[in-house]
Amino acid sequence: MNPPSLNPCQGDTIAYFSMEIALEPGMPTYSGGLGMLAGDTVRSAADLRVPMVAVTLVHRRGYFRQHLDPSGWQTEEEVAWEVAKFCQELPERVQVSIEGRAVHIRAWQYIVTGISGHVLPIILLDADLPENADWDRTLTHYLYGGDSHYRLCQEIILGMGGVRMLRALGYQQVRRFHLNEGHAALLGVELLDERARSFNRAVFNTEDVQAVREQCVFTTHTPVPAGHDKFPLDHVAHVLDRSDLFTMSEVFCCADELNMTYLALNLCHYVNGVAKKHAEVSRQMLIPHDGLHHYQIDSITNGVHLGTWTAPSFVQLFDRHIPGWRTDNASLRSALRIPKEEIWRAHQAAKARAIDEVNRRTNAHFDPEVFTIGFARRATSYKRADLILTDPARLREIATCQGRLQIIYAGKAHPCDEAGKKIIQQIYQMRDSLRPEVLVVYLENYDWELGRLLTAGVDLWLNTPLPPMEASGTSGMKAALNGVPSLSVLDGWWIEGCIEGFTGWSIDDTVKDPAASLYHQLENVILPLYHYERNHFIRVMRHAIALNASHFNTQRMVGEYTVKAYFE
Ligand SMILES: *Cc1c(COP(=O)(O)O)cnc(C)c1O
Repeated sequence: MNPPSLNPCQGDTIAYFSMEIALEPGMPTYSGGLGMLAGDTVRSAADLRVPMVAVTLVHRRGYFRQHLDPSGWQTEEEVAWEVAKFCQELPERVQVSIEGRAVHIRAWQYIVTGISGHVLPIILLDADLPENADWDRTLTHYLYGGDSHYRLCQEIILGMGGVRMLRALGYQQVRRFHLNEGHAALLGVELLDERARSFNRAVFNTEDVQAVREQCVFTTHTPVPAGHDKFPLDHVAHVLDRSDLFTMSEVFCCADELNMTYLALNLCHYVNGVAKKHAEVSRQMLIPHDGLHHYQIDSITNGVHLGTWTAPSFVQLFDRHIPGWRTDNASLRSALRIPKEEIWRAHQAAKARAIDEVNRRTNAHFDPEVFTIGFARRATSYKRADLILTDPARLREIATCQGRLQIIYAGKAHPCDEAGKKIIQQIYQMRDSLRPEVLVVYLENYDWELGRLLTAGVDLWLNTPLPPMEASGTSGMKAALNGVPSLSVLDGWWIEGCIEGFTGWSIDDTVKDPAASLYHQLENVILPLYHYERNHFIRVMRHAIALNASHFNTQRMVGEYTVKAYFE
């Protein structure tokens, strides 16, 4: 196979750096929302013919495969995959220095092809080479595995190794470096070094910082503190074997630690959050250490790649009624013209697939005629997966009066998140107390395929994060695209996407008992609509498509990045 003709010499290249990118269901190079968004971003960039190259790590052993034991306790298993089956090895080699050792890096190339045939290369960095020390060979094995030292080494490979690899591949003129999260912030150090070297200076200066800022843009993705990497300065100095960095405290603030979010903020001229509310929260949370000014933080609300997340039955429906919807995502607004019966039929087909999968994997005997709620996301405290189970007796009473309920759960806890694992176990152990009116399953190993099935195949998509922790959320957008309305706390994208009673429903989290608000909406609004005013319910489904899928897609989102961050 000849490599597709790529043109790294053009001066307009956008280099997109992300610790995780979901490229294909068979490649375990992502953990969740961030990686999915990165994948949807490159797919839409390819559709839009944006001259982009993306850089990530190869993650040879993946994130992990989740198992739940009979008590509901999560265990993790490595996922080895055959890199050469998906990617082409490139001959170029670069090195980075870690604790004084040279770590050699090779690159694999994966090609994303857009709807009009535009190809977008993804560079996956790999340190598993025989010339490296044994431990160094594992540095591109595990996504979010290992300790803080392992993570720092991975960030050196991604940021510094990534820039060196792009140069080796011929990308001399990069218009913008896009840091998708702070993980790639060290690329700024490499750019500073490059510039100082080009002027024959041993150390970089404030002019170099200005020049690098002009080239770099940064997207921050979470207000949750654990999402912002920090490393002790003396540790960084030791691993990189240099102390010159930290003399410039306005860039490498603060005190005794290097915070990758602040490093990215200080080295990028354009910064955005991933929903309007998230940008606002980030502006309040991320305060410059001189205390004198605020960071300018814009917002570009997330989206999803429609071609990736539309269920087969809805693909057929859209192809029939809205030809060209893949090239013009906004045209989904005319979903309002699609007859309600056809939307219902497409939904029933998507639901049958999801229920079949539940019954194939479990002995729960789910019934496609029963109202089904989906909740699938990372299992961690602030997402409050158990909010709907707060009062089991109340939930059973609702099901007794308003019709039986089925709830499909899925989601992995990070291996170190004990509290997250306990939430899964609690849900698991509550199942018996809810039968027979309310059936609950917790499916193992939430991933791309399961995400596709569930977001399209339930009647209601539930989201109950503790505000303001949900930066955006994207699974509700996937649901909307498939005519599945959301019931969600007003946080992240849902503040923008919810038109009460038209695109879905909100849960009031400003009250003492948000679970009561959730129960109220189910009992008095949603279930009566579903059972007794089916036409009206389908109208809500149709509005979810027309108003939300037409806007909350990565085609619109990449367009905004292009205008505001890449070619401004
Ligand atoms: C879409 C998706 C996510 C992100 O969903 P959120 O709504 O942001 O929680 C995570 N994991 C998988 C497998 C997905 O498909």
